[in-house]
Amino acid sequence: MECDICGADGAEYLIAVEGAKLNVCQNCSGTGKIVRGPQYAREVGEDAPRIRQELEVVDGYGALIAGARKRMGLPLEVLAERINEKHSFLERVEHEKTLPDEKLAHKLEKELGIKLLAESTSGAAVNVKDKQGKGMTLGDILEIQKKKKD
Ligand SMILES: [Zn+2]
Repeated sequence: MECDICGADGAEYLIAVEGAKLNVCQNCSGTGKIVRGPQYAREVGEDAPRIRQELEVVDGYGALIAGARKRMGLPLEVLAERINEKHSFLERVEHEKTLPDEKLAHKLEKELGIKLLAESTSGAAVNVKDKQGKGMTLGDILEIQKKKKD
């Protein structure tokens, strides 16, 4: 696209000048108010990764489930029936041998009135406990995230 002002090739900026929208090059982008720059154009062009809030099953979910179930006086079999799951499967979940998927976790949350899912702490807020009790450096966290991806 050519610049509306100087005619140069590569008009990557959209600017607003007195209500009119002009496609201009970088040199002319200072003429008006920049509506969007080249970065924006690239972002919408690509299939930008969507920010998705992931839910994670909390630590100690087995004890949480078992505890709530016992407080309610529900035998495992009865709970399993209520949420339409196999009793043996639920038993494995309570013993933390199996991680419940989001759907099952939601069912258990509803049935038992407990909280099993938490928003995943990815990115800056990584909650990593260092075994030595030392603080994690950013490098350590990046290293862990790299390993997770592999
Ligand atoms: Zn120009």
